[in-house]
Amino acid sequence: FLSGKRALVTGSTSGIGLAIARALRAEGAELVLNGFGEPDAIAALCEELGARHVGADLTRREGVEALMAAAGAVDILVNNAGMQFVAPVEAFPVEKWDQIIALNLTAAFDTCRLTIPHMKAQNWGRIINIASAHSLTASPFKSAYVSAKHGLTGLTKTLALELARTRITANCISPGYVWTPLVENQIPDTMKARGLTREQVIEDVMLERQPTKDFAQPSDLGELAVFLCRDAAQQITGSNISMDGGWTAQ
Ligand code: NAD
Repeated sequence: FLSGKRALVTGSTSGIGLAIARALRAEGAELVLNGFGEPDAIAALCEELGARHVGADLTRREGVEALMAAAGAVDILVNNAGMQFVAPVEAFPVEKWDQIIALNLTAAFDTCRLTIPHMKAQNWGRIINIASAHSLTASPFKSAYVSAKHGLTGLTKTLALELARTRITANCISPGYVWTPLVENQIPDTMKARGLTREQVIEDVMLERQPTKDFAQPSDLGELAVFLCRDAAQQITGSNISMDGGWTAQ
């Protein structure tokens, strides 16, 4: 049902962004991919998905502007690229703060700013911002990430109000812990460092705050993004939809 629609997914060379890109492609959308990675691996992804790739660095405004110029008219915008850094506030490297705010928040403002005129002209569009359980709750040592993700929900609500009389919707999806290679690769080290079993690492360390003690799969997020593109989702706007195994219900 998405043939004839162009989708841009930022940070779509791995993890959640790639799964969302795959899900949108399966419904017929034309894809513009973005993100870092090995040139061969990216070429293979473009081949698999019939996609274009624009490798712009979205921590820089010029990078976002170059991406949007190369992408052309975007009908479905998924702001997914994100990064994390963990340190107490008083020791938080200021350049890390600037990068995290730039990538997780400011880049989304810029992609929206540059996409909305086209969406308004055709009176249809979907803006899907990938936030986090950390858009609703905090954890110590993640000041920049929590601030950026809270900010992203504020931006999304504002967009929803500004666009309410159009057929453009703006929503956040807020995952808890998602089973990505990054998560999987942390398990052996944590087992060794803390002398724990694989099950203990998963349930007591990683999923300490996720009551279901289970991960969402990236493809689950892909299906939710597809749903937000459907006509049935026309009245979902300004929402922050959690997929966090009950984390923020606590
Ligand atoms: P990931 O690290 O697997 O992928 C991040 C993507 O962003 C990659 O494609 C990477 O190349 C790209 N990227 C990184 N820096 C970039 C930059 N400067 N410019 C352009 N692209 C850049 O991450 P993920 O786990 O799939 O996370 C995706 C989003 O989901 C992020 O916004 C993250 O905060 C959010 N999230 C993830 C989880 C989780 O458990 N994995 C939970 C909640 C929220």
